[in-house]
Amino acid sequence: MPVDETGRERFSVTLRAPRIVFGERVAATELSAELDALKAARVLVLGSEREQRRNADLLSSLGTLVVGRFTGVRRHVPRAVAEESTELAKELRADCLLSIGGGSAVGTAKAIALETQLPIVAIPTTYAGSEVTPVYGITDESTKRTGRSDLVLPKTVLIDPTLTWDLPAELTRYSAVNALAHCVSGVFAPGRSPVTDALAVEGAVRLARGLRGLHTSGENASARSDLALGAYLAGTVLAHAGTSAHHTVCHILGGAFDLPHAETHTAVLPASSRFLEDREPGLAAQLATTLGGNTLADAIRDLLEAVAGEVHLRDIGLDRGDLPKARDLLSGEIGEHGVPGLTPAKATDLLNEVW
Ligand code: NAD
Repeated sequence: MPVDETGRERFSVTLRAPRIVFGERVAATELSAELDALKAARVLVLGSEREQRRNADLLSSLGTLVVGRFTGVRRHVPRAVAEESTELAKELRADCLLSIGGGSAVGTAKAIALETQLPIVAIPTTYAGSEVTPVYGITDESTKRTGRSDLVLPKTVLIDPTLTWDLPAELTRYSAVNALAHCVSGVFAPGRSPVTDALAVEGAVRLARGLRGLHTSGENASARSDLALGAYLAGTVLAHAGTSAHHTVCHILGGAFDLPHAETHTAVLPASSRFLEDREPGLAAQLATTLGGNTLADAIRDLLEAVAGEVHLRDIGLDRGDLPKARDLLSGEIGEHGVPGLTPAKATDLLNEVW
């Protein structure tokens, strides 16, 4: 945290956040009014075939307000998907984008909004948190280009925990731990402030409680509510504080070895937390206490063990023979950049722990 000459905190923060409507069944009860408030008259719906089918009643209740549907959403928004959906929005003369689904659905809406400046109303069905960030990404061939723009920040987000009630257990775990990683990474990030720290701590509490609650008692409405709220707070931390070494490690390993995104976050989080807390112990202590551990790394390891969420890089595609290259990439010996402060010895320790 930057401090002034007297050693006291000094920071600036501009909160840019969508209007949030949170609660069980708000999608069914509030969507019409929220679209009305935005004067939407020609809505284009974006979401996978499965999500649109699952929410068929909700979407058909909008009647002629819906002028078209796009189901070709894909992870990381391939350029062709961005172009095809943008063309459709223009052809239909849509005046509002309604995304329903996970990060892939809202990511597609963001790509259209970037080009057309159309407002987005988002209904998330996972815990990715993208619906509260101004961050977009479009993938050309295999390179993902990301950027920030207020144009892509949704105007309204309806967070309805009932829409995640049947999110499969494994997807739930990875998605929620990914959100937890945003909270952890955020308290060490360059853009952090007391505001984002407070959001990160409450977000971590909700996510941990939700994960434990769901694991011990199966389908559980209050655990789902905690997870949905925690994901919202985590996304807000990501939007305002940014990320730190944890994300850099995941980005480097994921990119070099084509590892699955959410699983990589889950595998790396205990060890990256240890690295971060060694560098800035004061910050980590508050989060560790909140999560009920002596150290942040222990608290996260305990949580993952308790909810059967432990995963190792060897299980998700990193071969033993890849480890020397992984060490050199992480420490910056090869490649464009490494992780600041992660020496080859520390990179080896980290990899040994997560492999
Ligand atoms: P996703 O949107 O691809 O959804 C994952 C899978 O879950 C899909 O098969 C989907 O059909 C299914 N699904 C979604 N909701 C469901 C439900 N309620 N029940 C059952 N199945 C359901 O994945 P995601 O993890 O939500 O998002 C990942 C994408 O979001 C990535 O492209 C990532 O880069 C991006 N992202 C962006 C930001 C940002 O700020 N821009 C933040 C986080 C993630």
